[in-house]
Amino acid sequence: MIEKKFGIIGKPLSHSLSPVLQNFWFKKNNLKANYSLMEIEKKQIKDILNKIRTKEISGINVTIPYKQEVIPYLDLVINDAKETSSINTIYLNSNNKLVGDNTDVYGFEKSFINNLNNKDLINKNFLIIGAGGVAPSLIYALWKKKIKKISISNRTYQKAEVIKKKFPFIEIISWEDIVGKSEEMDVIINATSLGMKNGLDFEITIERFKPGLIYYDVIYNPLSTKMLKSFKEKNLKTFNGLDMFLYQGQKSFFLWNKITPIIDEEIKTEIILNLK
Ligand code: NAP
Repeated sequence: MIEKKFGIIGKPLSHSLSPVLQNFWFKKNNLKANYSLMEIEKKQIKDILNKIRTKEISGINVTIPYKQEVIPYLDLVINDAKETSSINTIYLNSNNKLVGDNTDVYGFEKSFINNLNNKDLINKNFLIIGAGGVAPSLIYALWKKKIKKISISNRTYQKAEVIKKKFPFIEIISWEDIVGKSEEMDVIINATSLGMKNGLDFEITIERFKPGLIYYDVIYNPLSTKMLKSFKEKNLKTFNGLDMFLYQGQKSFFLWNKITPIIDEEIKTEIILNLK
């Protein structure tokens, strides 16, 4: 049997643990397949997507900075990808159409929203810090749950304005006002890359907040960012991005193979061992 090829496109990619995740599941499910890092320049997007059309590659994930850039090369943008204009999973469907879908929304729902009670969600104030590629997926997942009291803050203000065009109900807070406005928030979400291992971190610290504040961090390497640690030490409910990573990967795996791989302690341990 020929080995099927899968991979992730983006740049830079060295931080990505998607090969560890997907190859673990291929092995577990006895599938002859290999998933690799495909670090490419923007001008190579068309060629790599053509390899899915010719069935040389069976499916790809997309990460920064190409989640929007791939759209012109696709035949269909469906489901959550259509609502967010953010693509992270591509495959060829049974009609030979190149399809772009989004599994980040599902990842965020399964790892966060579904773990909270309605009382933690309804009529609560959400602050999303960051307006990059992942932010529309978080906003759309919250909107589906009828959560509309969402503020967003981003270093580059114009990028928050672009997101507001898609989701007019959100309020933009200037980057300088995060600390001042934090006191009004019930949930704070870090959707930036600040706090990632070997990267830059927040220069601010949030000292004043509501007693029951919930903090979510999209980052999973490290498992506890400085910001997450500071809230955890104050006995607040915190979430890191590991489960979101696992669930978005699980749905991608399903879209490609029509098998739902199992998320258990074994795969979590495997990922944690591979955090560099
Ligand atoms: P992105 O499109 O590159 O956006 C990066 C975001 O971080 C932007 O809001 C950017 O602000 C901000 N940022 C970067 N450096 C900054 C700095 N020095 N000061 C202030 N803000 C800064 O990335 P993305 O796709 O949105 O991903 C964001 C993070 O989420 C990444 O760490 C990614 O690994 C993680 N992620 C995790 C999962 C998961 O499954 N857990 C899924 C998707 C993404 P500007 O707009 O001002 O540049």
